[in-house]
Amino acid sequence: MEEKELLEGGLVDEQFLADLPHKRKRPAWVLDESLVSVGAWEPLFHRRRLGTTQVDDEKLYAYEHSEQFVKEILEIGGNLLITAYDKNYYVDEDEYALKKQLAALCKKHGLRLGVYIRADNIYTEALPDRLKNEDLLARQADGRTSSYGSQEWRKNICFHKPGNIEAFKVSVHRAITDLGVDMLHLDGFGVGGTETYGACRCDACRRDFTTFLVRRWDADPKSCKRRFGHTRLEGIEPPGFASLPAIPTGRIADPVWQEWIRFRCTWTARVTRIISEYAYELNPGVAILGNAGLAVRENSALLCGYEPATYCQHVDMMCNEDAFDAHIGPEGEIIQRVRQHKMAANAGAFLWNYMHNPAQPERHLRTQLSHAAAFNRGRATGIGFSFACYNDFRLAGDVKRKYADWLKRHWEHFQNVESINDVVVWRESRAMAFAEPITYATAMRIEQLLIEDRIPFHIAPGDWPSDAQVLVLPNLAIIDDAQCARLTQFAERGGSLLIIGQTSILDGWGRRRNNFGLRAILPPQVKASGLVFEQHIAGANDPIKPGCEKIDDKERWTRQQFGAGRVFHIPELVAPATQPSLFNIDYSYNFGLDLTNWRTPEKADETRNALAWLLDGRQTFAVETERGVIANYYRQSGSENRYVHLVNLNDHVVTNTAVKYKLPPANTTIKDVSVISPDGDKFQKIDWRMSGDHLIISLESLDVYSVIIVRMQAGV
Ligand SMILES: [Zn+2]
Repeated sequence: MEEKELLEGGLVDEQFLADLPHKRKRPAWVLDESLVSVGAWEPLFHRRRLGTTQVDDEKLYAYEHSEQFVKEILEIGGNLLITAYDKNYYVDEDEYALKKQLAALCKKHGLRLGVYIRADNIYTEALPDRLKNEDLLARQADGRTSSYGSQEWRKNICFHKPGNIEAFKVSVHRAITDLGVDMLHLDGFGVGGTETYGACRCDACRRDFTTFLVRRWDADPKSCKRRFGHTRLEGIEPPGFASLPAIPTGRIADPVWQEWIRFRCTWTARVTRIISEYAYELNPGVAILGNAGLAVRENSALLCGYEPATYCQHVDMMCNEDAFDAHIGPEGEIIQRVRQHKMAANAGAFLWNYMHNPAQPERHLRTQLSHAAAFNRGRATGIGFSFACYNDFRLAGDVKRKYADWLKRHWEHFQNVESINDVVVWRESRAMAFAEPITYATAMRIEQLLIEDRIPFHIAPGDWPSDAQVLVLPNLAIIDDAQCARLTQFAERGGSLLIIGQTSILDGWGRRRNNFGLRAILPPQVKASGLVFEQHIAGANDPIKPGCEKIDDKERWTRQQFGAGRVFHIPELVAPATQPSLFNIDYSYNFGLDLTNWRTPEKADETRNALAWLLDGRQTFAVETERGVIANYYRQSGSENRYVHLVNLNDHVVTNTAVKYKLPPANTTIKDVSVISPDGDKFQKIDWRMSGDHLIISLESLDVYSVIIVRMQAGV
């Protein structure tokens, strides 16, 4: 590869996917139908082994394969059942006989059937012969195996060992050709494990890592030397095997760590493509729900070798099991999954979430269903489980049914919609993968402000949407020359940039530049930080710590006009001292629920003013109402419709909401403005009028969810 390509290449190296053409298209039914699912996905053998089963478990399991179960799911508005099938390569044949019966019942009644497959661990107790004859397990650098949490009999496997991919395919083949399923629920559909929790460093991984390095660097010894200091690629080991913590704690500038993260992300993309293309070949109508752990605060590329943008190209639904259900937190934090939805939507995938916690009041369920409808384009997803598995799906069945019916009635408004994006937070994949934790905190805080203020926005990992007026660069240190040129051009042509912190101080490899790569567009007062090396060692056996950035005058916010656009610079949006430790006491990564960054920046008003100056009157939609109401905006392709989805997280009705819409130029007239709401007729009262080029809408009262529909006519 050319050095230029190696400097500017993305996080996933596409040459390692070139032998696997991407032919798969999303099944039509996933795009045309709502997705409301009930799960019954733990096999009976696993419930027993886990010690969570019930006395009459056979009777309950029989119910999960009965006509009654199928009918009850349809009765509450479900259209998809996800049943147990293959847990860690073990299929119990007695249970499998029930699946055939269930598949026939689902066909008879028109319920779609998905099966659960978990392929990243192996059920060691049930498969001793396979383990005796084949090398399958993942191993840490010291040779130890690792397992799924405390379930030590479910050992992690390594997808760099071909036997595992083959066994995965056998399982997929049986489900599609023998059971005739509509969907595969691939749980734990990741590669290589989680760093600090036994991520794989086995011989197969090491071999493939060497091959990866050789293919990328060997042909160009000069670049190789510039990159690694030497050319002996075969001597480079996967990092993170000896020191503690086992992952970098700050910005990732170490070239081998960068290559290791790339290697992991590339292999995840490779395995997801192998499996999804294989399923597509067997039956193009089979949908895929993948679960790889979507994260918004954590660096998933570093921790899980996973990049959502590439991953979501290969799955139709991205499973998300985080605890950020939509609600107002203990200290008034506005908790929601807006970011997760936007990240999955980039590649056209839907997000799959749990909707119902029966311990919460009914309003909580209505809020989750509304939030999903608003941000997941009408797909409610997981509404419960068989009662012998997890939360009983039949609870609050009337609420679920009502929502499903309401969505069906208004389905046309949830089809072919795309987000309206005045502001785009650029979570550029590579810059984020190699970023320090404060970059994630910065992105979170600015996104939180956009969410709380209901500004039409999006999160982009690569190309930004064409309607973006303002790009936010949340302390993205690594920006290559080509990206700098694109950003400069964006400003020249009238786009505005909110540039935070040390954005563009490093090149595509993470090497320090003499000055910012975006120097040309930054206000002249902005100075590149210097590095300070603190003397801290007592002897010669500890390495000197990397330099700390010394940022001059953190309080000085600057702005300037550039070309036809505007540029605003904030030296530091989030103080590093406010951030919690990343690690547990044993240096494992702390994945515990943390709400530190679910709040607007400390200088919220100043940040608002900066955004307003950058938007310069170009904001399309604005909603004035109480704090705790969040909004999402769409345009519909194939119509001139615009949509304002309003979700109220407060526990009370909100009155007098005002929506302002700046009409697009060029002969657009309003045909009609209306509102629909699953909360009832009294929440469907609306008034509208024109004021100059603005449409002013007043919504009398909002309970949990209202959708305002603006029908326009072009060219009159
Ligand atoms: Zn391995």
